[in-house]
Amino acid sequence: MIQNIPLPATHEPADAAFWQATLRAELVVQQCTGCGHHRFPPRPMCPVCQSTALQWRTMSGRGTIWSFAVPRPPLLPAFEALLPYVTAVVELEEDPLLRVTGALLDPHTGSMQGVSAESVAIGAPVQIAFWRCAEDVALPCWQLVGAGSKAGVLSGIAASPSGENA
Ligand SMILES: [Zn+2]
Repeated sequence: MIQNIPLPATHEPADAAFWQATLRAELVVQQCTGCGHHRFPPRPMCPVCQSTALQWRTMSGRGTIWSFAVPRPPLLPAFEALLPYVTAVVELEEDPLLRVTGALLDPHTGSMQGVSAESVAIGAPVQIAFWRCAEDVALPCWQLVGAGSKAGVLSGIAASPSGENA
Protein backbone atom coordinates (compact mmCIF):
# COMPACT_ATOMS: atom_id res chain seq x y z
CA MET A 1 0.00 0.00 0.00
CA ILE A 2 2.50 2.55 1.17
CA GLN A 3 4.64 2.32 -1.95
CA ASN A 4 1.68 3.42 -4.03
CA ILE A 5 1.80 6.95 -2.69
CA PRO A 6 2.50 9.27 -5.61
CA LEU A 7 6.05 10.47 -5.14
CA PRO A 8 7.41 13.87 -6.08
CA ALA A 9 9.91 14.31 -8.89
CA THR A 10 13.11 14.93 -6.95
CA HIS A 11 15.58 15.62 -9.76
CA GLU A 12 14.10 18.72 -11.39
CA PRO A 13 16.63 21.58 -11.66
CA ALA A 14 14.53 24.01 -9.59
CA ASP A 15 14.13 21.81 -6.54
CA ALA A 16 16.69 18.97 -6.66
CA ALA A 17 18.74 20.71 -3.95
CA PHE A 18 15.65 20.83 -1.73
CA TRP A 19 15.08 17.09 -2.04
CA GLN A 20 18.77 16.29 -1.53
CA ALA A 21 18.63 18.30 1.72
CA THR A 22 15.61 16.38 2.96
CA LEU A 23 17.64 13.18 2.68
CA ARG A 24 20.09 14.80 5.14
CA ALA A 25 17.12 15.74 7.40
CA GLU A 26 17.56 19.42 6.53
CA LEU A 27 14.89 21.90 5.48
CA VAL A 28 16.28 24.41 2.97
CA VAL A 29 14.66 27.31 1.17
CA GLN A 30 15.86 29.46 -1.70
CA GLN A 31 17.18 32.95 -1.06
CA CYS A 32 17.54 35.40 -3.92
CA THR A 33 21.10 36.71 -4.03
CA GLY A 34 19.84 39.78 -5.86
CA CYS A 35 17.41 41.13 -3.26
CA GLY A 36 17.60 38.69 -0.34
CA HIS A 37 14.00 37.48 -0.64
CA HIS A 38 13.34 33.95 0.70
CA ARG A 39 10.94 31.80 -1.27
CA PHE A 40 9.21 28.46 -0.86
CA PRO A 41 8.30 26.23 -2.62
CA PRO A 42 11.37 26.26 -4.86
CA ARG A 43 11.09 27.99 -8.22
CA PRO A 44 13.57 29.22 -10.80
CA MET A 45 12.99 32.98 -10.48
CA CYS A 46 12.58 35.50 -7.68
CA PRO A 47 9.00 36.86 -7.63
CA VAL A 48 10.25 40.21 -6.27
CA CYS A 49 13.17 41.15 -8.56
CA GLN A 50 13.02 38.40 -11.26
CA SER A 51 16.61 37.37 -10.63
CA THR A 52 17.50 33.73 -11.19
CA ALA A 53 20.57 33.96 -8.93
CA LEU A 54 20.01 32.16 -5.65
CA GLN A 55 21.51 30.38 -2.70
CA TRP A 56 20.01 27.72 -0.47
CA ARG A 57 19.54 28.54 3.21
CA THR A 58 19.12 25.89 5.89
CA MET A 59 16.18 26.64 8.17
CA SER A 60 15.96 25.78 11.85
CA GLY A 61 13.08 23.38 11.24
CA ARG A 62 11.03 25.14 13.90
CA GLY A 63 7.66 26.71 13.24
CA THR A 64 4.08 27.11 14.34
CA ILE A 65 0.90 25.63 12.95
CA TRP A 66 -0.85 28.14 10.68
CA SER A 67 -3.67 25.74 9.78
CA PHE A 68 -4.39 22.04 9.81
CA ALA A 69 -6.86 19.51 8.40
CA VAL A 70 -8.02 15.98 9.09
CA PRO A 71 -8.34 14.27 5.68
CA ARG A 72 -11.43 12.15 5.15
CA PRO A 73 -12.51 9.85 2.26
CA PRO A 74 -12.67 9.89 -0.63
CA LEU A 75 -8.87 9.92 -0.90
CA LEU A 76 -6.38 8.13 -3.11
CA PRO A 77 -6.28 4.51 -1.86
CA ALA A 78 -2.69 4.81 -0.61
CA PHE A 79 -3.65 7.78 1.58
CA GLU A 80 -6.93 6.25 2.69
CA ALA A 81 -4.93 3.31 4.06
CA LEU A 82 -3.06 5.74 6.34
CA LEU A 83 -6.17 7.23 7.98
CA PRO A 84 -6.57 8.72 10.48
CA TYR A 85 -3.91 11.42 10.21
CA VAL A 86 -3.53 15.17 10.45
CA THR A 87 -1.84 17.47 7.96
CA ALA A 88 -0.62 20.92 8.89
CA VAL A 89 0.49 24.10 7.17
CA VAL A 90 3.38 25.47 9.21
CA GLU A 91 4.83 28.98 9.32
CA LEU A 92 8.61 28.81 9.58
CA GLU A 93 10.31 30.52 12.51
CA GLU A 94 12.58 32.49 10.19
CA ASP A 95 9.70 34.02 8.20
CA PRO A 96 5.97 33.40 8.78
CA LEU A 97 5.31 33.90 5.07
CA LEU A 98 7.31 30.73 4.38
CA ARG A 99 4.76 27.95 4.87
CA VAL A 100 5.51 24.24 4.57
CA THR A 101 2.78 21.61 4.48
CA GLY A 102 3.27 18.15 5.92
CA ALA A 103 1.68 15.39 7.93
CA LEU A 104 1.99 15.46 11.70
CA LEU A 105 3.97 12.49 13.04
CA ASP A 106 3.49 10.88 16.41
CA PRO A 107 6.73 11.68 18.28
CA HIS A 108 6.76 8.30 20.01
CA THR A 109 6.14 6.05 17.02
CA GLY A 110 7.20 8.26 14.11
CA SER A 111 3.92 7.35 12.45
CA MET A 112 1.32 9.57 10.81
CA GLN A 113 -1.28 7.53 12.62
CA GLY A 114 -1.97 8.16 16.26
CA VAL A 115 -1.90 11.97 16.23
CA SER A 116 -5.23 13.10 17.64
CA ALA A 117 -6.75 16.18 16.02
CA GLU A 118 -7.77 17.25 19.54
CA SER A 119 -4.06 17.57 20.42
CA VAL A 120 -3.46 20.00 17.54
CA ALA A 121 -4.07 23.75 17.67
CA ILE A 122 -3.36 26.69 15.43
CA GLY A 123 -0.29 28.42 16.79
CA ALA A 124 1.14 25.26 18.37
CA PRO A 125 4.93 24.95 18.05
CA VAL A 126 6.24 22.16 15.83
CA GLN A 127 9.58 20.76 14.70
CA ILE A 128 10.41 19.34 11.29
CA ALA A 129 10.78 15.60 10.85
CA PHE A 130 11.24 13.60 7.66
CA TRP A 131 9.36 10.57 6.41
CA ARG A 132 11.67 8.42 4.30
CA CYS A 133 9.03 6.97 1.99
CA ALA A 134 11.33 5.87 -0.85
CA GLU A 135 15.05 5.42 -1.38
CA ASP A 136 15.44 8.92 -2.77
CA VAL A 137 12.45 10.66 -1.17
CA ALA A 138 12.12 12.02 2.36
CA LEU A 139 8.93 14.03 2.76
CA PRO A 140 8.93 16.95 5.20
CA CYS A 141 6.57 16.26 8.08
CA TRP A 142 6.03 17.87 11.47
CA GLN A 143 5.98 16.87 15.11
CA LEU A 144 4.31 18.79 17.89
CA VAL A 145 7.00 20.12 20.23
CA GLY A 146 6.76 18.38 23.55
CA ALA A 147 7.78 15.30 25.42
CA GLY A 148 9.51 12.74 23.27
CA SER A 149 9.90 14.70 20.05
CA LYS A 150 13.11 14.01 18.19
CA ALA A 151 14.08 16.96 16.06
CA GLY A 152 15.21 16.27 12.55
CA VAL A 153 15.45 12.52 12.84
CA LEU A 154 14.62 10.59 9.71
CA SER A 155 11.48 8.66 10.43
CA GLY A 156 11.48 4.97 9.77
CA ILE A 157 7.73 4.57 9.52
CA ALA A 158 7.74 3.82 5.84
CA ALA A 159 10.86 1.73 5.55
CA SER A 160 11.24 -0.04 2.25
CA PRO A 161 9.81 -3.57 2.16
CA SER A 162 13.28 -5.02 2.65
CA GLY A 163 13.88 -2.70 5.58
CA GLU A 164 16.90 -1.19 3.84
CA ASN A 165 17.24 2.54 3.83
CA ALA A 166 20.30 4.45 2.75
ZN1 LIG B 1 15.05 38.90 -5.68
